[in-house]
Amino acid sequence: MHVAAIAGGTGAAKLLRGLTAVMDARDLTIVGNTGDDTEVWGLHVSPDLDTVTYALAGRLDVERGWGLAGETFRCLEAMGDLGAETWFNLGDRDLATHVFRTRALRAGATLTAVTAELARRLGVATRILPMSNDPVRTRVRTPDGWLSFQEYFVREKAQVQVLEVEYAGAARARPAPGVLEAVREADVVVVCPSNPVTSVGPVLAVPGVADGLAATRARVVGVSPIVGGAAVSGPASELMRARGLAVSPVGVATAYAPWLDALVLDHRDAAYVAELDGLGLAAVPADTLMIDRAREIALARVVLTS
Ligand code: GDP
Repeated sequence: MHVAAIAGGTGAAKLLRGLTAVMDARDLTIVGNTGDDTEVWGLHVSPDLDTVTYALAGRLDVERGWGLAGETFRCLEAMGDLGAETWFNLGDRDLATHVFRTRALRAGATLTAVTAELARRLGVATRILPMSNDPVRTRVRTPDGWLSFQEYFVREKAQVQVLEVEYAGAARARPAPGVLEAVREADVVVVCPSNPVTSVGPVLAVPGVADGLAATRARVVGVSPIVGGAAVSGPASELMRARGLAVSPVGVATAYAPWLDALVLDHRDAAYVAELDGLGLAAVPADTLMIDRAREIALARVVLTS
């Protein structure tokens, strides 16, 4: 069975770990969000690709949901002593990833190539693809003007009002090699429980991806990141509201209409099943809080059979 997964960072990483435990990891292709890529100290940082890569390599800091386990931040401290900006938390060993990536990109490698190389060197068997090799940058408009996604999410800790979200560069971006093929040739496409606006949204904004999802013969199955009226973590609720989407599995389904075939939602949201059926998709209640490995695996099984 071939599976393609559209993935953001923290929420996606848990389900992807589950998927690789219940299927041959080599038959999974991940299409990762690069809308929140950024430059820090001159280095190209791809937070979502790294979160997914570290998770599948067994190196993710599971408590934080990003970065490497057992990380230290001495370089960050030293940069602070030099008066550099330090609001973006780059760990010492994580820095190696960004130096490696930036050096390869400057030498002319594509993000596709360097992402594959990083995965290979970290012992990850799953194919991890960036959604595009062209720059797409998620930006949010606040009452004080536009912020990059990382300025909003990390520097401002998502504590500012969001009036609008855009994916700068998306209209000119091409899907990275392998992305459309993975969606077309999969038996199941999984839309991970990721932020619909800032993790999945940028992937869908790349021309051709949404059409590919509508055309694929694969079953397209999403997992709701909204549980009991709120995001499990992060600013998905605020951003969905800013987009005019209901903060519920119905809002998630609306964001993914018309190509979503099934939505796995939490048992506590079972009241939405009838409404989701009315939208023409299968609604599958399950235990969707992945608080341990057993639950990641159990949810992965539900997704593959929904
Ligand atoms: P980010 O780029 O790090 O924000 O990563 P994602 O977009 O992949 O993950 C954030 C989203 O995942 C949030 O909307 C959370 O509500 C959702 N999420 C995180 N953990 C879980 C979980 O265990 N279960 C479900 N259903 N959603 C989760």
